[in-house]
Amino acid sequence: VRTNAEWEQFGRDHTCRGLGRLYDEVVVKGNGLTLTTADGKEYLDFTAGIGVTNLGHSHPAVTAAAQEQVGNIVHMQCSIFQNPAYLQLIDRLLPVLPDKSLDAIYFWNSGTEAVEAAIKLARASTGRHAIVTFQGAYHGRTAGSASLTRSKPVYSKKTGPHMPGVFVAPYPYWHSLGLPPSTPEDVLVDAAIHQLDLVFRQQVAPLDVGAIFIEPVQGEGGYIPCPPRFLHHLRSLCDQHGILLVLDEVQTGFYRTGSYFAISDLGLRPDIMTFAKGVANGFPLSGIASSKALMDKFEPGTMGGTYAGNPVACAAGVAVQDVLATGEVKANVAARSEQIFNALRALQASPKTGHLIADVRGKGLMVAVEFRSNTDKLTHEGLAPGTALPQKIGPRVQTKCKEKGVIILTTSCFDTIRFIPALIVSEEEMSRAMNVFGEALNEVAL
Ligand code: PMP
Repeated sequence: VRTNAEWEQFGRDHTCRGLGRLYDEVVVKGNGLTLTTADGKEYLDFTAGIGVTNLGHSHPAVTAAAQEQVGNIVHMQCSIFQNPAYLQLIDRLLPVLPDKSLDAIYFWNSGTEAVEAAIKLARASTGRHAIVTFQGAYHGRTAGSASLTRSKPVYSKKTGPHMPGVFVAPYPYWHSLGLPPSTPEDVLVDAAIHQLDLVFRQQVAPLDVGAIFIEPVQGEGGYIPCPPRFLHHLRSLCDQHGILLVLDEVQTGFYRTGSYFAISDLGLRPDIMTFAKGVANGFPLSGIASSKALMDKFEPGTMGGTYAGNPVACAAGVAVQDVLATGEVKANVAARSEQIFNALRALQASPKTGHLIADVRGKGLMVAVEFRSNTDKLTHEGLAPGTALPQKIGPRVQTKCKEKGVIILTTSCFDTIRFIPALIVSEEEMSRAMNVFGEALNEVAL
């Protein structure tokens, strides 16, 4: 029998260093937003397992649905027979997809696999190889998706070259375009449109491009909502040149940003949409949605995988959609989003901590604070000359929050903390987390 400390060491000795795990503690239980470690310590989880357990850990309806499915059948390989949970989940999802034209779904296990499927569908259906992606994008870490991921070199370091034919345009964001944080959105959009135009005039002929991939709110890249005008511009550009528009809603879907999908209220038609994470509240499940006509450009046998569309994961997914259908989650996201933005803007306005904060941004409960640290001159706009700034602030605040019992994440790019709690977070849990964050920031500011 090993002690808890011995298990922690065992993990250090025998798991993959490439994971880059934040903490070695072993978590034995999750309930709502509370995590309990083997040592009996409790943490308030403001990560939701990176935006997955949107209904909280161990949601009773999801657990019950999965348990019932385990009693019926655990595995039904989707290329051999159909299973009811698979079909029911498609039936639940079709009416909530952002556009009526999306009437076919293909399930996979993880977000990166959904992106791989979208790459293959774009290529198979257009006969064109090239793909456009954006600076700061995160689409996954397998070979195809990693070639579209542009948020941190470590995701492809020493493992490339990955897929050829990928072209990168700046995202409509001040860092990408080298402009100060106060730059008006319209100026950013015009600049990004101009840069994209240059990609097509200087680097790749539109006729060779099969798809443009974009996240409606850039996730790992810094929680940056994409201005709707830019998304609509992509739509018309795609229509003009016969390119497919692929919206990656892996992190943004299932009310994370306040609506079922981040693009739900934009009147925007994606040709392909990817989803994962929140769809089954922790069971491995992902997928792509497109029109049936487009999906059928795949020849039988092109797609599939042993576990794709696992019945237990699909049953959990059905339960998640039924919880979302009550409207309670949507209402809570709206209320808690207002609460978190008020709390963070108060810290930004405070004379004690305001000089550390360059930007508060996000949508719904996908919220980020970007710090001004010594490491980035662009964020120094508006600071009194000679203002002393610490080195990277985010990781220090993160450590202090953990010591005070709240787990938060940074993002891949720049000096940014992101808040991504379960969407059922209570008012009390939100104010606890904000108090802890405020205390931590004050301590760093000293
Ligand atoms: N796309 C986006 C937008 C993501 O945020 C992620 C995961 N952070 C992925 C794809 C990859 O998903 P997974 O980790 O499940 O492979």
